Amino acid sequence: MQENLRAATSLPRRQLGIPAYLLHLATTTVRSGARQHAVRSLDWGAMSGEESGGSQLPGFDDMVPGPTGRPLREWPEPAPLSGHGPARIIALCNQKGGVGKTTTTISLGAALADYGRRTLVIDFDPQGALSAGLGMPSHDVVTIYDLLLGKEKDARKAVQATKTKGLDLIPANIDLSAAEVHLVNEVAREQILARVLAPVVDDYDVILIDCQPSLGLLTVNALTAAHGVLIPLECEYFALRGVALLVETIDKVRDRLNPAVQLDGILATMYDARTLHSREVLERVVEVFGDKVLETVIGRTVKFPDATVAGAPITSFAPDHPAAAAYRQLARELIARGQVA
Ligand code: ADP
Ligand code: MG
Repeated sequence: MQENLRAATSLPRRQLGIPAYLLHLATTTVRSGARQHAVRSLDWGAMSGEESGGSQLPGFDDMVPGPTGRPLREWPEPAPLSGHGPARIIALCNQKGGVGKTTTTISLGAALADYGRRTLVIDFDPQGALSAGLGMPSHDVVTIYDLLLGKEKDARKAVQATKTKGLDLIPANIDLSAAEVHLVNEVAREQILARVLAPVVDDYDVILIDCQPSLGLLTVNALTAAHGVLIPLECEYFALRGVALLVETIDKVRDRLNPAVQLDGILATMYDARTLHSREVLERVVEVFGDKVLETVIGRTVKFPDATVAGAPITSFAPDHPAAAAYRQLARELIARGQVA
């Protein structure tokens, strides 16, 4: 591995709270497996050229190392649920923009809904990209801002059913950018979102919060309301920069506000197996985070921006594309790990 890549992505291990044995495990796994994976996971690379189609995920043969260097597994088809709720709340966080938070919220939410999980996605970014990406209105409707400020008391009034069965949305628009200023003097200002969501928690199996790219009060509210945190991480040079700060923030929220919150996983996004660069960054991420790195890796493809323009999740916009299959796999992996019902 190039020394400058190592330097650019270096993190003080102590800050991460990753036990030494995990680091050792990760490094060993990477050494034994990562070099071979490149051959098997080429399909992701081919996809960036587009129209490569096909429903096969890369490298799904028995015990073939996946992009993370660990053996790829076929996660089982989830069993239908006999009852619903209360929801597990997962915040999708990374203070870096453009890493795939919103795309993951939409695509994972839709995949979970397709597996019969009642899913609520919350737009928690004033840009309103989640609402737009699902083709839903965010103006002249009740938004998360109205709930946070108590202008609307009933969270159910903000819920919109999307075109995907079982997938609901609470939208946001630019008004939300004023929320931090308004909430800063509130009593228990970090717990406002948790209180807002309490009345709808029993209606869903999972609630995904699409955070804005910052570690401000809104993100702290999301971390305080959440049971788990999923960190989408783009496979590029500066990927790990800032993640130490994010992990530190999660640790602080756990100490002071929400003892239950866990780091559910790191999701590598925009992976391009054709480039040595992508492979090296992923190798480094696994070296640092060990088995916190999810086995599912999301490849780079223009199908995602295309789906956003169409205002539809990838799972319905291009259900046979490997990108849709990848998010279905992510849904199965989270269910198999017990992070979603
Ligand atoms: P964030 O919410 O973290 O800012 P987005 O999900 O909005 O990131 O993604 C940023 C841009 O990258 C969007 O235009 C999106 O369509 C695109 N994108 C997201 N995931 C991928 C991917 N796997 N491959 C290619 N483009 C992607
Ligand atoms: Mg976003």
